[in-house]
Parts: sequence; C-alpha cells; structure tokens
Amino acid sequence: MKVVLNSLVPFKGFKAMFLFGILFVRNDLKHGLEEKDYNHEAIHGRQCLEMLGVFFYLWYVLEWLVRIPFYRFNVRKAYRNVSFEREAYGNERNKEYLSTRKMWSWIRYI
Ligand SMILES: [Zn+2]
Repeated sequence: MKVVLNSLVPFKGFKAMFLFGILFVRNDLKHGLEEKDYNHEAIHGRQCLEMLGVFFYLWYVLEWLVRIPFYRFNVRKAYRNVSFEREAYGNERNKEYLSTRKMWSWIRYI
C-alpha cells in the first residue's frame, strides 16, 4: 500500500484516508498510525477493489448522506455508521480478518 504523508488529507481529526489505492496519512499525528489503523485501511482497500473503485466512493458518500438525518445531523456519527466503516472498525483489531473475509462482507453491516 502506497502511503503519502501530508497536512491536508484527511481533514484534521482524522488519521488516514484511503483514496484510489493510496493511503493518505496526516503528518501531524503524535504517534503515527497503529497496526489497527493500517488494517482498517486495508479493509477499505478490499472493499474498494470489490466495488471497482468508483462504486465504493459513490456508495460511501450516498450512504453517509442518507444516514446524516438519522443521526440528527451529527456527520461524524453518520460517518462511523456507514457500512464500510462499521466493517472496518469492527474488524480492524483482527489481523486475520482479511485472510478469512468473504467478498461483499460489508453488506452485512448496512
Ligand atoms: Zn474507515
């Protein structure tokens, strides 16, 4: 996974963001990325691959927008509950997850 350290992507308050096969990491992190963070982003990488890239981002943004009113316009809470995030947060500490994960597993988290 190619990693790009920078001060713009993602927004402050987030550690890293997987975009088009590249992991963008904020360069102002005190402790850098932990193993679980890399695992989290690798899960997104797999989701992205099986959604052929563009559909991953389309679905992600659509689901986030749909969830915002359900979380009383708390955009951060809506983001944490996007199915891709639920799968990634729920399994980021499991190092074996990607080796046993079945295709389209994120659907179970909708
Ligand atoms: Zn995520």
